Amino acid sequence: MADRPRFGPAGIPPSFKEMKASLFDIPRLLKEENLDAFEYQAVRWGMKPQIKQKDAELFGLKSKENDILLSLHASYFINLCGDKETIIASKKRLIACALASKWMNAQPVVFHVGYYGERNPKEAFEICLNVLKEVIEEMKSLDINVKLGPETMGKISQFGSLDEIISLCENLDNIQPVIDWAHLHARDRGRFKTIDDYRKVLIEIENRLGSNELKNLHCHFTKIEFTDKGEKCHHTLDEKDYGPDFEMLAEVIKEFNLSPVIISESPILDVDAIKMKEILMRKFKN
Ligand SMILES: [Zn+2]
Repeated sequence: MADRPRFGPAGIPPSFKEMKASLFDIPRLLKEENLDAFEYQAVRWGMKPQIKQKDAELFGLKSKENDILLSLHASYFINLCGDKETIIASKKRLIACALASKWMNAQPVVFHVGYYGERNPKEAFEICLNVLKEVIEEMKSLDINVKLGPETMGKISQFGSLDEIISLCENLDNIQPVIDWAHLHARDRGRFKTIDDYRKVLIEIENRLGSNELKNLHCHFTKIEFTDKGEKCHHTLDEKDYGPDFEMLAEVIKEFNLSPVIISESPILDVDAIKMKEILMRKFKN
């Protein structure tokens, strides 16, 4: 839970990789950049954690020492509304990521819920809801007490409209929405044009999930290019041809006095995280 607006990259920034920084150096390097959040990328993981428990714990400790709030992005190979075998494997993948999150003290466990495939959205919703109930029960029995974070998705073939994500959260415990603003923008082919378009999303979350959930929102932000099918690719903050606009989001964060975690998914991860932080800080000063 964030005590103030926090910013950080989705994964290890390119410049850290160039200097061959170890995982345990990342929190200090982020702090030196004046950042205070990090989303660990477990996006290629299978059914077991691909980090040793002692390494995950040490990484968690280093993050705490440097005041870096951790979340974890779960495997891309999760589809909770696939066929039976896919669902069984997806549950294992999600639980493996949740276990590693527990070791690191990272939350939420951000995940992509799945693809509609042949199903209509209502059928897909019922299946995802039931599978998630089972996952949450199993996590309880394994003493894994971390929040899951289903993400709003950018392609119309993917489960994850704003309404679907909020509805899951209304129906489950230990779960929080992950608002990927770029994905919402792409999914609805240019949804965010005015400040009011941002405001509407926040009001919807507050009305349905309460002000606490709104205050500590977990967000992804980048600029995005889209086609009729939704998301195409990510762009940097400086590219004027693409939306959504971070200035407007910063405006409503100030208006609602929120303390979100904002994870930069821009191609230049940390550089744009710093830029967004500066934009928001300027708003709060005015
Ligand atoms: Zn994602």
